[in-house]
Amino acid sequence: MSRKAFIAGNWKMNMTAESGEKLIKELAPLVKNASCDVALCVPAILIPAMTKAAQGTNIKIGAENVHWAKSGAYTGEISTDMLKEYGVEYVIIGHSERRQYFGETDESVNKRTLAALAAGLTPIVCVGELLEERENGSTEKVLDKQLTVGLNGIEDITKVVIAYEPVWAIGTGKTATDEQAQETIAYIRKKIGELFCPKCAEKVVIQYGGSMNAGNCKGLMAQPDIDGGLIGGASLKLDFATIVNYDK
Ligand code: PEP
Repeated sequence: MSRKAFIAGNWKMNMTAESGEKLIKELAPLVKNASCDVALCVPAILIPAMTKAAQGTNIKIGAENVHWAKSGAYTGEISTDMLKEYGVEYVIIGHSERRQYFGETDESVNKRTLAALAAGLTPIVCVGELLEERENGSTEKVLDKQLTVGLNGIEDITKVVIAYEPVWAIGTGKTATDEQAQETIAYIRKKIGELFCPKCAEKVVIQYGGSMNAGNCKGLMAQPDIDGGLIGGASLKLDFATIVNYDK
C-alpha cells in the first residue's frame, strides 16, 4: 500500500508576518519539486499573510487548532469557517502542548477532530506518551486511550492524519530512534485497524514528530510505517526544506 508522504511544520507561537513571509519566500523554490505533500501550520493571526505568501507554491498553510462550535461565545478560539475562508486545509489537533498547558483532553480532541472533518478540513491528530509512561511500560495503554477516545465516531478514518509525537522528544533534541518510532507507529496502525478496519489503517498517513531534523529525517522516513513528519523547531528555518527533500 503506497501512501503519499506528508511533511508539515508547526510554527507554534513563533514568527511574525514579516519573518514568516521571508521564510516562505526562501523555502518555496527549495521545496517546489518535493515528492511529498508540504504544509506549514502557523499561528491563527498569521494565516491570511502566510496564505498570501504561499500562493502559487506547493506549500499549504495550516492552523494549529480549531474549535468544535460553528460560532459563539468562545473567546480566543477559531472556527472552521474562519479557517476555510482563507483556504486552510490542515489543522493540528491535540498537540501535547495544548494538552499540557491548556487542558486539552482526549474528549475535546475528539470534538475538534469531528468538527474539522465535518467542515472538510484534514485534522492532524497528535498522540504520544510522556517519558514516565514510556519508562513504566504504559506507552501502548496511553496510545490506546488517545486513539479510542480521540478518534471516536469518525466515519472515514482515511481522512485523518495522525502525528505520533512522544512528548519526551518534542523540543528536547531527543529523537526517538528509527526503531522506536517505527515500532510505535506500527502499533498505532494496528490499533487503528482494530478500531476501524485493517484496510483503512493501511491508508492512514502517520507522521512522526519530535526533534526531527535535517540530520535524522532520512532514517526516520525510511521506516515502512512512517509516512512523514510534524516538525517544530526545524520548520522555523531552511532546514525544513532539507526535511521535505528527504528523498533527494
Ligand atoms: C512539534 O511541535 O510538533 C514538534 C515535533 O516539535 P520539535 O520538532 O521542535 O520537537
